[in-house]
Amino acid sequence: GGVGRQAMSTLSNSKVAERNKERSLIMIKPNGVQRGLVGEVIKRFEQKGFKLVAMKFTQASEEHMKTHYKDLEKLKFYPGLCKYMSSNPVVPMVWEGLGVVKTGRVMLGETDPAKSLPGTIRGDFSVHIGRNLVHGSDSVESAKKEIALWFKDDEVVTYTAGNNEWIYE
Ligand code: ADP
Repeated sequence: GGVGRQAMSTLSNSKVAERNKERSLIMIKPNGVQRGLVGEVIKRFEQKGFKLVAMKFTQASEEHMKTHYKDLEKLKFYPGLCKYMSSNPVVPMVWEGLGVVKTGRVMLGETDPAKSLPGTIRGDFSVHIGRNLVHGSDSVESAKKEIALWFKDDEVVTYTAGNNEWIYE
């Protein structure tokens, strides 16, 4: 009856609100910083409607990058990748929103810029797989790990964005 339906819609409303709070670690790599593309990357995530909840400008240690890319430690490019990623400043950020992990990866493009379509960040601004400008978490689970690696709990800010009602139903 009416009561049951009311209860169900209340439950689904809170589940929907929860889904809007998915988070992804998006990081501008050293060449993105050096090439002056920090604003461009931020602009795309802002204009899409995702919400910035954490950001820093930092030069990571090689050890930190080895932890970040631990899953790739058996691959031949791993040492060079970690060395490169720690050679200059990076801009790690946490972006929040519905499907941000998957959609963020779509916005980035493929790992190999040659396979990335125009309109994607890697497709528009990069050529070489080892210099593909941006990192993005590949699952909600790895996003959680990466966010904890780069940010303390109190560096990730919970707030209501003024445009929220214009982005979500
Ligand atoms: P993604 O960053 O798209 O999640 P991976 O996790 O597979 O991709 O790889 C991490 C990073 O390692 C890539 O973004 C890329 O910069 C680098 N990389 C991947 N494959 C190669 C390769 N064959 N040669 C050099 N660098 C690579």
